[in-house]
Amino acid sequence: MNCAKNAPLPPKLTPNLGLKSRNTFGLEVNAERAFEISDPAQLPALFKEINEKHWSWRVLGGGSNVILPPNLDGATLLMNIMGQEVIREDEGNTYLAVGAGVNWHDLVAWTLHKQLLGLENLALIPGTVGAAPIQNIGAYGVEITQYIDGVEVFDSKTNTFITFSNEDCQFAYRDSFFKRNPNRFIVIKVIFKLPKAWQARVHYADLANFFSEISNSKPSAQEIFDAVCQIRTKKLPDPKVIGNAGSFFQNPVLGEDQYEQLLQKFPNVVSYPDADGQCKLAAGWLIDQCGFKGQRVGEVGVYEKQALVIVNHGNATAADILSLAKTIQDSVQEKFGVTLDIEPNIL
Ligand SMILES: Cc1cc2nc3c(=O)[nH]c(=O)nc-3n(C[C@H](O)[C@H](O)[C@H](O)COP(=O)(O)OP(=O)(O)OC[C@H]3O[C@@H](n4cnc5c(N)ncnc54)[C@H](O)[C@@H]3O)c2cc1C
Repeated sequence: MNCAKNAPLPPKLTPNLGLKSRNTFGLEVNAERAFEISDPAQLPALFKEINEKHWSWRVLGGGSNVILPPNLDGATLLMNIMGQEVIREDEGNTYLAVGAGVNWHDLVAWTLHKQLLGLENLALIPGTVGAAPIQNIGAYGVEITQYIDGVEVFDSKTNTFITFSNEDCQFAYRDSFFKRNPNRFIVIKVIFKLPKAWQARVHYADLANFFSEISNSKPSAQEIFDAVCQIRTKKLPDPKVIGNAGSFFQNPVLGEDQYEQLLQKFPNVVSYPDADGQCKLAAGWLIDQCGFKGQRVGEVGVYEKQALVIVNHGNATAADILSLAKTIQDSVQEKFGVTLDIEPNIL
């Protein structure tokens, strides 16, 4: 991650690159010009060219949270900025700088190996470190905002590098300033802050059940990591076997009044309180109640073990996926009066 020394080599350009193996839905996609970004210093010159030639552009990490059209014209930036190191320590925390192209799960495993604890609940989330702040990845009662000190980005509008503090990122449930302002900032590095005083977080139902079944009331970080890997492997489809982007819809957050009204009509509605005291509904339950679990429509379908996941049975297109998503959204709206928002980014 060397930004300011000698001029870097230009990024490797591959014309007409097939991206089927680079998006977890397994969609057939052609990128007109794919640029492999291995050094942040490549970005200013590349964006000069992009602007001069009026190319459209987008960033792709691991492709695990995107719905891609058959053709991506202009420039597609493949993030391959590597590197992970401890940069400093203070009394309470250890700080890490990690390149945007590093694989997320590999980072979690590496921190655990170094006895830098805290990320274990987020094991096995597919994708790259650079994408983690975009939707503030979260799982099993933890969100990455809790561990982000800052995010270094390239601002394509001003052609400068800037650092966002955690507060600047305006993180919220599956959301951030970056997600609300797409096509401007490219994450090049994330600075993590891991507290030295570690506490297990096993309040989330799946984890709590896992440890109560084996009578372990004080699991270690390694045990939590292993449990999360086991639970996820059982529950979620492996994109290498069947294309998907994980949870397809966000869990809707309701205010107290709307929730009370819903509860009167549907007393068994599955929900849990969120950090702001509002009520999060289990979107998977809503979809299941509308009868979609395990349903197949042509090349797309709803995963048989988890109604929140839309799967590609082989030759689906973005249009097939979005059409099924719309049918599900309409059905949930009609039955429950609740709006489901799509989680993956439609590029
Ligand atoms: C099986 C499965 C399970 C999942 N489970 C979870 C889960 O538990 N919790 C969760 O939060 N998510 C989950 N996801 C979603 C996904 O793993 C995360 O959103 C992940 O952070 C996406 O990383 P990526 O590198 O694949 O991003 P991509 O899919 O490549 O990109 C996602 C978005 O981020 C943008 N982007 C990517 N890299 C950069 C960058 N360097 N700078 C700026 N923008 C960038 C892209 O343009 C796009 O808009 C799951 C997905 C799958 C397939």
